[in-house]
Amino acid sequence: MTAPTVRLVPLEDARVDQARAVLADATVLLNEEVAPAHFLLRLSAPAIARAARPGQFAMISLVRDGESLPALPRPMALYDWDDAEGSVDFLYRVVGRGTKVMSGFRPGERLVTVGPLGRGFTVRSGTRRMLLLGRGIGACSLTGLARTAAERAVALEVVVSAREPGALIGVELFRSLGARVWTVSDQDGSSNVARIQGLLA
Ligand SMILES: Cc1cc2nc3c(=O)[nH]c(=O)nc-3n(C[C@H](O)[C@H](O)[C@H](O)COP(=O)(O)OP(=O)(O)OC[C@H]3O[C@@H](n4cnc5c(N)ncnc54)[C@H](O)[C@@H]3O)c2cc1C
Repeated sequence: MTAPTVRLVPLEDARVDQARAVLADATVLLNEEVAPAHFLLRLSAPAIARAARPGQFAMISLVRDGESLPALPRPMALYDWDDAEGSVDFLYRVVGRGTKVMSGFRPGERLVTVGPLGRGFTVRSGTRRMLLLGRGIGACSLTGLARTAAERAVALEVVVSAREPGALIGVELFRSLGARVWTVSDQDGSSNVARIQGLLA
């Protein structure tokens, strides 16, 4: 069996568009544990939702009034957003102090957030098929791209990889967009690159 041919194309029209980033005093709408140590944070941030592009991220400051730590904001990919509702979703894994503090924020509290930041993805006109490969929490950066592709009737194939099945991210979201999804993990060895190539052949 021959390995599939993968053609990499430059994202010619991708732009660094930092001028659209805004500082928002964003209200927490939801912050719930959706899987062990994984939380979905929904912020009301209409200006960020309006400017968001697939693949971008925001810097979220976790300092509460009267406190000074954690001093540095944490980067989080825009997992999903709703321009009409003015909301932005982040999916995050608790790994250290900052994300632990983040998990303690309750609806109604505010988080100073700057975004959208970073070079986003664009879907070239004429694209008919797209293969996305995401690993671990990094798959959060692909959900917006998948949504844009689905809206343009691009046939989507997504490989979601993780150390263990419990850490697979975005599977339901990708499926809800009509994507053909493969889930692979280190636990059973299916995340091995050669085995993934075999899946796609
Ligand atoms: C552009 C960008 C987008 C990101 N998007 C997301 C996202 O959508 N969701 C998300 O959950 N994370 C995302 N991250 C990673 C996230 O920013 C970090 O996990 C977070 O800043 C960690 O902060 P902390 O204070 O909890 O951990 P720290 O105190 O900084 O680290 C604590 C311990 O955890 C380890 N650690 C830190 N980060 C990770 C990690 N990612 N995996 C394994 N071990 C780690 C450190 O080595 C350290 O031992 C993104 C990072 C970048 C740069």
